[in-house]
Amino acid sequence: MKKDMIKAFENNEFTIYIQPKYDIYTEKVVGGEALVRWSRGKDEMLQPTLFIAEMEKMGLIEKLDFYVFEEVCKFLSSWKKGGLREIPISVNLSQITLKEIYNITRLKEILNKYELPVELIEVELTETLICTNVEVINKLKEEGFKVLMDDFGTGYSSLANLKNLPIDVVKIDREFLVDVEECEEGKAILKMIIDLIDIIKKEVIVEGIETNQQLEFIKSIGCKYAQGFLFNKPMSLEDFKQLIS
Ligand code: C2E
Ligand code: MG
Ligand code: MG
Repeated sequence: MKKDMIKAFENNEFTIYIQPKYDIYTEKVVGGEALVRWSRGKDEMLQPTLFIAEMEKMGLIEKLDFYVFEEVCKFLSSWKKGGLREIPISVNLSQITLKEIYNITRLKEILNKYELPVELIEVELTETLICTNVEVINKLKEEGFKVLMDDFGTGYSSLANLKNLPIDVVKIDREFLVDVEECEEGKAILKMIIDLIDIIKKEVIVEGIETNQQLEFIKSIGCKYAQGFLFNKPMSLEDFKQLIS
């Protein structure tokens, strides 16, 4: 597996897909999330859930995260030169990548190499990393990165804790949507979470919207941003460009 992974870098087998993020009131794309895919062989496309954990174990995740980050920078740079509407893209970073605080300086250097403003790249980190390593988040903020807490509700953070964390955006995990359609308690819980996030003045986005019913519900409780298969599945860079232009 490790050999295959090393070869995959040499053969450019990792591809970046982007899933659009929407302002659900204006129905405009306001951002995108970069999600990696591994094209192994002719028609095999592996989803990251099948190899990210393995790459972490093999000590290769840092390499992958930097690869994705740089590819996104290249894309944004060509986009900028083409005069298209500028749209921030978020990248997912493993906690292993950020264990080394110097890596944040390296990320900044890549941005500078492509002459991109830091506002165009956002970082998505898991709840667990954010809660256990505030120093990293502070450094990212110092360097100007917008920080998103990914998969909120699946890790260790509590709502009480959230207000003290130096993050900008809370991404609510799609787990919270599962029973929203038929369960009043589920609806009440999601509404309460969104209200509380509003009170502590953080932005909120709900991930994994699949049905119109879910969309109408989150709209009715004042959530402004969403992402999910109802709008688009993750798409190639070319398709994303086309969508925007
Ligand atoms: P994530 O960051 O929470 O990304 C969202 C995942 O939910 C994506 O899965 C996306 O395709 C999926 N998704 C989006 N909308 C819907 C929906 O409406 N319904 C359903 N059922 N799923 C939806 P994907 O692409 O398989 O990525 C899985 C995870 O792998 C990501 O979760 C992220 O944690 C990780 N990942 C992806 N790319 C990278 C990367 O470059 N570096 C690192 N470290 N992790 C990555
Ligand atoms: Mg994410
Ligand atoms: Mg997520």
